[in-house]
Amino acid sequence: MSNSECIFCKIIAGEIPAPLLASNSDAVAIADISPVAPTHYLILPRKHEENAVALHRSDPNALTALFALVDQLATSEGITDYRLVFNTGAGAGQSVFHAHLHLVAGRSFSWPPG
Ligand code: 5GP
Ligand code: ZN
Repeated sequence: MSNSECIFCKIIAGEIPAPLLASNSDAVAIADISPVAPTHYLILPRKHEENAVALHRSDPNALTALFALVDQLATSEGITDYRLVFNTGAGAGQSVFHAHLHLVAGRSFSWPPG
């Protein structure tokens, strides 16, 4: 089910152009429009759910599909050191309320995250 107001649903439907870096039956990967590192990909479930846990509740297999694309991209690009992030809730930095996994790499990271 898609949401007509959702920018990621529009990208998945092809209504907003965004090259697909990888895809499978349940997920697609695109480059973030505003990268925070030399590599910054977004892995999107095709199904609209507000966040990762909502996706887990409605379609746990979709989470596997997201990680399959992480594996595919990291393996094909030789990325071994990276950060995977689900910002969940506006207070944690979520700005698009269609579940998505950030894959960020190519620079050093601090811990704890800012
Ligand atoms: P959030 O803040 O919700 O965790 O992440 C949303 C991400 O989506 C941000 O990093 C933002 O740069 C990215 N983004 C927002 N609109 C677009 C868009 O139209 N195209 C692409 N490729 N990325 C977008
Ligand atoms: Zn959506």
